[in-house]
Amino acid sequence: MTSASLNPTSTLNKTLFLDRDGVVNVDHGYVSQPKDFEFINGVFSACKQFQDAGYKIVIVTNQSGIGRGYYSEQDFAELTTWMVEQFKNHGVDILSVYYCPHHPTKANAPYLKECDCRKPKPGMLLKAISEHSLNPDLSIMIGDKASDMQAAIAAGIKHKYLVNSGQSFPPEAEELADAIFQDLPAAAKSIL
Ligand SMILES: [Mg+2]
Ligand SMILES: [Zn+2]
Repeated sequence: MTSASLNPTSTLNKTLFLDRDGVVNVDHGYVSQPKDFEFINGVFSACKQFQDAGYKIVIVTNQSGIGRGYYSEQDFAELTTWMVEQFKNHGVDILSVYYCPHHPTKANAPYLKECDCRKPKPGMLLKAISEHSLNPDLSIMIGDKASDMQAAIAAGIKHKYLVNSGQSFPPEAEELADAIFQDLPAAAKSIL
């Protein structure tokens, strides 16, 4: 074990947390196969820039399509393996992908539940921080919904930004964000 992993305030493990749909890929709604997964222009090079600046990259995504029975956990796992491979082909390492398959009212058993992982709850972020000794004080969350900002705030992630490449959001959402960017590449350009 290195000394860095013993020190929670280490400058190591600063992390870029990304929502998936609307940030990494075009939100076509319940995307479950590579053929429907359309990377947003410039996402690979933007992530490479964050990586080169020392950020780990973690994806946190609500996937109630699993609970609703639109696709299975196996489908999601296969799509995720494929997605991570595409990043890898562009020189980007995705540290981990966390997903919530639940929905409080619109899901089948065993996914029908009020869980602590579906954003705006911070469960996925807290789990990532704990499992990988990430440093929330130096970290960034980028999402396209108020719930992404709320989850970041609840998890103590210091910097949080909205992008316009996904869902349209109300003024209340904008107030939760430190800034709003056109998309992830624009965020990289401004932040780094
Ligand atoms: Mg989204
Ligand atoms: Zn959940």
